[in-house]
Amino acid sequence: MVQVNENYLKLKAGYLFPEISKRVNTYIQANNSSSIIKLGIGDVTEPLPKACKDAMSEALNEMGTEKGFKGYGPEQGYPWLREKIAENDFQSRGCQISAEEIFVSDGSKCDSSNILDILGDQNLIAVTDPVYPVYVDSNVMTGRTGEALKNGTYHGLTYIPINEDNKFLPEIPTKKVDIIYLCFPNNPTGATITKKDLKKWIDYANFHKSLILFDAAYEAFIQDNELPHSIYEIEGAKNCAIEFRSFSKNAGFTGVRCAYTVVPKNLMGADSKGEKVDLWSLWNRRQCTKFNGVSYVVQRGAEAVYSLQGKKEVKNLIDFYMENARIMKSKLQSTGFKVHGGDNAPYIWISVPDHMTSWDFFDHLLEKANVVGTPGSGFGLAGEGFFRLSAFNSRSNVINAMERIITI
Ligand SMILES: *Cc1c(COP(=O)(O)O)cnc(C)c1O
Repeated sequence: MVQVNENYLKLKAGYLFPEISKRVNTYIQANNSSSIIKLGIGDVTEPLPKACKDAMSEALNEMGTEKGFKGYGPEQGYPWLREKIAENDFQSRGCQISAEEIFVSDGSKCDSSNILDILGDQNLIAVTDPVYPVYVDSNVMTGRTGEALKNGTYHGLTYIPINEDNKFLPEIPTKKVDIIYLCFPNNPTGATITKKDLKKWIDYANFHKSLILFDAAYEAFIQDNELPHSIYEIEGAKNCAIEFRSFSKNAGFTGVRCAYTVVPKNLMGADSKGEKVDLWSLWNRRQCTKFNGVSYVVQRGAEAVYSLQGKKEVKNLIDFYMENARIMKSKLQSTGFKVHGGDNAPYIWISVPDHMTSWDFFDHLLEKANVVGTPGSGFGLAGEGFFRLSAFNSRSNVINAMERIITI
C-alpha cells in the first residue's frame, strides 16, 4: 500500500472554518432561518476595481490575437509588474528594494507555506499565539513539529502569546529562535506594530542570525501615518526578513489570485557546515522548478492597481471597509464590549463576556443575533476568550448585524 505523509495525521481534526460552517448549517436547518449575517471568514465582498477589470479584459482580448498571444511568462513575474511594485510599494517609502527582489505569485497563503521548501528542518520556529493557522499547519505538514498536545499546541513550536497584557504585541523571546512569523497589521487581532517595536525584532533577528517572515497582507488598511507598511522601512531588515504581500485584500483579488514575495538579494542563510548561502537564489530556483508564473491577464490586472485610477479605486475600497470597521467598533463599544483592533485593520477583536468561552460566544451570537463570527480559540490557545468579526461586508449587513448584537 502506498505510504502517506504521516505528518498530516498530526493536524488537529476539524479545521476552524469547516466547524463554523457545520454549526451554521445545523442551526439553519433546525430553525428554518434565512437571515444569517456572516462576519466570519476574512474574504472581501466588494467588486473588483474598474481599472483592474478593464486591464484584465484588455489583456484577455490581446491574448486572443495573433500578435498579442503569450505563452509561459517569466516564473518570477513580468518585469513591468515587478518594476511597478518595487517603485510604488517600496522605493516611494524609502525602501531600497529592486524589481529583481520581487517574486510575483498566485497568493501569500501559498508563499508563506512554500517558503519552508528552502529552509532547513532543524530550525527553531516561533509563531504568535493567536496566529494565522497557515503558518502552523504548514510546519506540521512538512514535519517541522512533533505531535499535537492536548491543548492544541504542537510540540517543538515556540508560541509567543499576544494578549491584552502586552497590547497584542509579541514580546521578544529570551532564547534564540531561527524563524519568526510576524503578521502586521495582524490577522486575527487587528493589532499593529510601530517602527520602534519592529526595530527590536530586527535587532534580535540580526543578532541571532534569525529570519523574520513578515506578512503584510493588510498594510493597505493602515490609517496611522506613523506605522510601517513594509518591514524594509526599518534599517537592518534587508539582512533578516522576507516579506509577503498580496493583492487579495487591497484590490479584492481573493478570487483573481495575485501576490508577491520580497527576498532581498543580500539575505543569507547557512548550510550545515556554516557556509553562507543566499536565500534569493534558492527561492528563485524553487519558483523556476515548481511554479510557472501568474497568468498574463492577472498580472495586467495587478499592474492596474498602480495606475492613477487604480490607486483611487483601491483607496475607496479600503475607506469603505474601514468605515465598516469604525461603525462596528463604536457600536460594540457603546454596548459595553471591550473591543480591540479595527483602527488599522479590517478585523475587530472582541473580549468575550467573562463567563463564556469563544465557542460559547459563537453559539450565543448565532442563536440570539443570527450573526456569525470567528471564535478566537480557533487561532490558538491564547485566542480563547476572544472573538473576531470581519469588516468585509456590505454596509447594510454591517449595520444590521450591529443592531442585532446590541439588542441581545
Ligand atoms: C488573506 C491573508 C493573506 C492573503 O492570502 P492570499 O493567498 O494572497 O489570498 C495572507 N496572510 C494573511 C494573514 C491573510 O489573512
